[in-house]
Amino acid sequence: MVLGRRLRLAGLPDATPVVTHRNQQVMVSWRPGKGLRLHEGYAHAPDDVLTALVSFLTPGTRRAARLAARQVFLAFPVEDFAPGSPRDPLTRERPGDERALARLRQLHLELNHRHFDGALGRIPILLSSRMRRRLGELRLERQTGRAIRITLNRRHVRRDTSVAVIDTLLHEMVHQWQAESGRAVDHGAEFRRKAREVGISPRATAGELRPGRIAAGQG
Ligand SMILES: [Zn+2]
Repeated sequence: MVLGRRLRLAGLPDATPVVTHRNQQVMVSWRPGKGLRLHEGYAHAPDDVLTALVSFLTPGTRRAARLAARQVFLAFPVEDFAPGSPRDPLTRERPGDERALARLRQLHLELNHRHFDGALGRIPILLSSRMRRRLGELRLERQTGRAIRITLNRRHVRRDTSVAVIDTLLHEMVHQWQAESGRAVDHGAEFRRKAREVGISPRATAGELRPGRIAAGQG
């Protein structure tokens, strides 16, 4: 495979098996002994992106260098070169979601410009009926810490006031900002500072519901 050869030229150890996929949830997953799984779109990436990827995966790379490398390979638009399947369950919507989702995506765009200088990436926004206690969630890719998607509680979006829903979306966007700027994704001092700055509660809890528990992505 050409991609495997190019990765080895970029410094990947010779014996590492390389497998590609089009799962939009996972960019890179590397397990010692099992090899490297990565998004097929990387086959179209220039050498500096592949070098950054290998540097990120190489044990012993210093934290600052790792973060810089991560920015480089996550910025490469893999989906443009190897689009995901339209049957991906992630993109399936329920009747009645369409308007709410269009509004939320527009809000993400506007709030991104108003509070984050437009620095946040475009991210899938979905609704879930399976959330019981949570109002929202930011999902992260386990190995890279990349923000994969924002999921909001469907009942919350349908029934609560738009002010409350905007609060929840902003809460998740502060987590997205943490993830995309290489900060820890948590409810620590940085979260509280940014939350106050964008005008939402700096607490992790609101009433009996807990907005925005951060879930780790599954491998
Ligand atoms: Zn949170």
